[in-house]
Amino acid sequence: MIDLVCGARPNFMKVDPVVRSLPEGLAFRLVHTGQHYDREMSQAFFEQLELPAPDINLGAGSASNTEQTARIMIEYEKVLTQGSSGLPELVVVVGDVNSTVACALTAARYNVPVAHVEAGLRSFDRRMPEEINRVLTDQIASLLLITSPEARGNLVREGRSSETVVMVGNPMIDTLLRLLPRAREAGARCPSGPFCLVTLHRPSNVDDPARLARIVAAMAATPDVEFLFPAHPRTMAAFEGSGLLSSLPGNLDLRKPMDYLSFIGLEERASAVLTDSGGVQEETSVLGVPCVTLRENTERPVTLSIGTNVLCPEPDELPGVLGEAIARRPAHPASIPFWDGRAGERIARAICSFLDRDGPGPDGGDSR
Ligand code: UDP
Repeated sequence: MIDLVCGARPNFMKVDPVVRSLPEGLAFRLVHTGQHYDREMSQAFFEQLELPAPDINLGAGSASNTEQTARIMIEYEKVLTQGSSGLPELVVVVGDVNSTVACALTAARYNVPVAHVEAGLRSFDRRMPEEINRVLTDQIASLLLITSPEARGNLVREGRSSETVVMVGNPMIDTLLRLLPRAREAGARCPSGPFCLVTLHRPSNVDDPARLARIVAAMAATPDVEFLFPAHPRTMAAFEGSGLLSSLPGNLDLRKPMDYLSFIGLEERASAVLTDSGGVQEETSVLGVPCVTLRENTERPVTLSIGTNVLCPEPDELPGVLGEAIARRPAHPASIPFWDGRAGERIARAICSFLDRDGPGPDGGDSR
């Protein structure tokens, strides 16, 4: 039996292809940490992805990064030590959220091996809590499953053996490709003119009210584009605390977080996307939609070199950068190696091989 850990919005899209690909003979428990718990940040994804209900919910809830990580560790330790099923053979964690490092570290305390899906991504910016989560999880994990080639070099430079690294591709893109036809059918309403879909929730963009005000001012200075902004709860709280809500520009439509089908349907039809999200940089690359990332760096450089992504560190530069990005819209979506809708199968195969079990049939390509 293995544990598959998920807990926050981007995790569900990464775990789903693994759940779909594991062979019947390999039992798993889906462990939801409760890092995200609102219907719109959690339950709605289970329904649209048709994920099985979690077997275990740790109920961590919101807190500071430190407290949330600690709560997840305490609750997961109880699952490992007090359950009737004994220790799992492997704990699979995904991405870079607090749930990822918390469950990896707890498993390591009990000598349970850990597999990390999306290992080796690095922004090289340790001010980001996600970067700390990535580096620590990759030190703990015995099986490092990577989405893009530079991740292997990053891991080897940090002392990990190349033998523990397997290129599996991008499971989030499996989910995107699986559900895009349904999203198109659902046909969420979008503005009639040019529009920019926005997701911003990194502390570096939303925690400082002065920076948030500069972002809003940059949108106001781009009046020919409508900004459709489904705000993460953290971002909405920042808006509420900033006093900006009473004077939003007319071309900014600030809303609650969107369900996945509505979001990817609009993402595909947007003139451009403005984001600081990791997953959105990847999705827009595959969709061929210009993406402006409001950050100094990205842990996903392939989205800059092969994809459609550009970095824009300063909000004041946004009107110019966005205008250029929209004008340079590529004729075809990017084709990124291993981002082909089959990452789930490769992950399942790597897990089975690690556990010395029968897995899905051969891939036809050497992913080592
Ligand atoms: N997403 C969504 N609704 C929204 C905003 C984003 O379904 O209102 C999806 C998006 O398509 C992507 C994922 O959420 O699959 C990204 O999550 P998030 O930005 O929270 O995490 P990150 O990728 O930055 O870790």
